[in-house]
Amino acid sequence: MKFKYYAPTTLEEISKLKEEGGLLFSGGTDVFVKMKAEVLNPEVLVDTKKLEVPEIKCSENELEIFMNTTYTDVIKNDCAKKFNSLVKILIEVGSPQIRNRGTPIGNIGNASPAGDFLLAAYLLDGTAVIAPGMREIKIEDLVAGPGKLNMEKGEFIYSIKLKKLEGYKTYYEKVGRRNALVISIASIATAVKLNNGVVEDVKIAYGSLGPTIVRFRDLEEEMKGKKLSEDLIDEFSARYQERIKPITDVRASAEYRKKLAKNLFIKAFNSI
Ligand SMILES: Cc1cc2nc3c(=O)[nH]c(=O)nc-3n(C[C@H](O)[C@H](O)[C@H](O)COP(=O)(O)OP(=O)(O)OC[C@H]3O[C@@H](n4cnc5c(N)ncnc54)[C@H](O)[C@@H]3O)c2cc1C
Repeated sequence: MKFKYYAPTTLEEISKLKEEGGLLFSGGTDVFVKMKAEVLNPEVLVDTKKLEVPEIKCSENELEIFMNTTYTDVIKNDCAKKFNSLVKILIEVGSPQIRNRGTPIGNIGNASPAGDFLLAAYLLDGTAVIAPGMREIKIEDLVAGPGKLNMEKGEFIYSIKLKKLEGYKTYYEKVGRRNALVISIASIATAVKLNNGVVEDVKIAYGSLGPTIVRFRDLEEEMKGKKLSEDLIDEFSARYQERIKPITDVRASAEYRKKLAKNLFIKAFNSI
């Protein structure tokens, strides 16, 4: 396989090379696997790691993760550690080698419905900053489908901003066919804020159960103001099972995935 390799140092150069058809990579943990399998055959590879960018900006309420920042960089950052619902998810990504090399931004770039950081970004109402113009867009509006992002040809992700969940109980589980290095059959991340047993706010995101991460805002709205009881869990777990439309693939059937949607919901809400 022959390709040209560039390692630009400015946003403008990256943008120009991408506009001309270059394929960006940072950690390469998705790109190189696909090149080896001949799913991707780029003529021009653009390594973004020579671009000087901050690693992490972190305040009391907001965390910003930049391109080229690895999972390990986030997990080891003292301020980012306080975003524990995020860290819970990131420590489950791949293996230490993948976390040392792979980047959360590459996970969004890959736009896989099984992407663990993508799941976290949906749960935490993430916003993407898009270079070179630095426009901001909600993560849910950025993702157009599996492997597809709503960006112009010369655009790329510069950073992702995430909000901290204060006073929420969170849950995360990934179901796969083995324990290590799994691509999930289904995953769930939830965050619930209760006030005297009544749901004040709730966020429920599923991975691997649709063309992208699934979040039904209308169902979340309906849960608010209701007492978190066994009846409520029964009712809404059944409604999520009904509404979710997964596919059958090599990892699991659609029917099995629908049952998982229900059971993961029950587990998540019974853990509170
Ligand atoms: C053994 C193994 C285990 C894995 N386990 C998991 C797992 O448990 N969970 C999980 O979610 N993933 C997993 N992955 C997939 C992968 O590691 C992650 O998706 C990782 O976050 C990709 O980051 P990267 O920097 O390596 O991406 P790259 O391979 O560099 O790029 C991925 C995609 O993003 C695009 N891209 C890169 N930078 C940008 C940018 N700035 N703007 C826009 N697009 C960009 C690239 O063009 C490409 O399409 C695994 C992979 C392997 C090989």
